Amino acid sequence: MAEGDMGEFREDVRAWLEANCPAEMREPVRGESDMCWGGRNPAFKSEAQRRWLEAMAERGWTVPDWPKDYGGGGLSPAETKVLRQEMARIGARNPLMSFGISMLGPALLKYGDEEQKKRFLTEIARGEIRWCQGYSEPGAGSDLASLQTKCEDKGDHWLVNGQKVWTSYADKADWIFCLVRTDPQVPKHQGISFLLFDMASEGVSTRPILLISGYSPFCETFFDDVKVPKDQLVGALNKGWDVAKYLLGHEREMISGMGLGGQSDSLGQALAAAVADDPILRADVARFDVDQMAFRAMSERFIDELKVGQAHPAQPSMMKYAGTELNKARHELVMAAGGSDALEWESERSNKGKAAREWLRTKANSIEGGTSEIQLGIVAKRILELPGG
Ligand SMILES: Cc1cc2nc3c(=O)[nH]c(=O)nc-3n(C[C@H](O)[C@H](O)[C@H](O)COP(=O)(O)OP(=O)(O)OC[C@H]3O[C@@H](n4cnc5c(N)ncnc54)[C@H](O)[C@@H]3O)c2cc1C
Repeated sequence: MAEGDMGEFREDVRAWLEANCPAEMREPVRGESDMCWGGRNPAFKSEAQRRWLEAMAERGWTVPDWPKDYGGGGLSPAETKVLRQEMARIGARNPLMSFGISMLGPALLKYGDEEQKKRFLTEIARGEIRWCQGYSEPGAGSDLASLQTKCEDKGDHWLVNGQKVWTSYADKADWIFCLVRTDPQVPKHQGISFLLFDMASEGVSTRPILLISGYSPFCETFFDDVKVPKDQLVGALNKGWDVAKYLLGHEREMISGMGLGGQSDSLGQALAAAVADDPILRADVARFDVDQMAFRAMSERFIDELKVGQAHPAQPSMMKYAGTELNKARHELVMAAGGSDALEWESERSNKGKAAREWLRTKANSIEGGTSEIQLGIVAKRILELPGG
């Protein structure tokens, strides 16, 4: 369906959302505990949150542009955009936060076999399995292809031994998508495979890592003689690097979304009272609002191009860099506007230091999903075609 013929579809979407999106799910998300991550043992914050996820999953609208056969809504890019716009219009929350949707799903759609797609994509769409990402290791971050987690072919199963680090929510996840070394004899990019397994498997253990914000969103993850069924390798043996890179593009696209600033239209409006008497801060906030508008326009164009397969492969790096820098700048300004009060850490009045903790959390934005330096290197080489190593 073309953009211009969307009237009827838009009306249907609007009516459906009106009837099915509970009032509570139209309120802004106040923090991480307000988000729904699904999983084998889902922790719903309220009945409204559960109903909203079930209604959206039933319609296939947790993943509106995936095929219906795999639990999606089968919508075209133009229809998907209308749905997003109508959800934004009423402030409807995303029904499901999920690394399955934003990272693994696209990789499975491209590289998974039919059985893997039917099984895993459907579970992801319904929010039944919570996933974590096993890429980084103590000796492999920016240089990810140096990873050493060993995976041996034992005939009727794979045997995995090694360690991952910075694994977000590994202690809460049901399954992991994991990069493993299946051939140590060949050049490093050519001996990696992409494996899925259950975090409840014997031999998997996790140890949470504490951040300066006081939160503990990630873990060290250990594999000791973990047995994995043979049919859980995605793509061809030793070709996992292709899957890994494709997934990283989607991860960077997801992370870049933090530049959009959620449901607040203008930082200036949000901070109006605090900045009214401070011309320097007011100018900084105005500059930020203009940058955010430019980022939103760029982001909309990027998503449109991506959905029809016309985005440059290195564009997620550019968006990730721009979006995370913007998010860091936003929280710097919130702290500046709050003055010394904003540093308050424990009281109920400060909502247990929400502003300060969120500001500290943004320090990791330019590291997670690949550092800013690495993104700039990719942009220099692949988009600007500058010479270099
Ligand atoms: C909040 C958070 C969540 C994360 N979640 C996950 C997860 O769920 N799963 C997962 O697998 N990983 C996760 N990570 C890990 C993340 O992907 C790595 O931290 C990141 O890729 C950087 O690797 P490193 O920490 O080993 O740093 P290093 O690679 O050691 O880099 C150190 C510094 O050197 C710079 N540097 C390195 N190489 C170059 C180069 N070639 N050119 C220029 N500068 C360079 C870097 O930019 C950086 O400043 C997470 C990280 C954070 C902060």
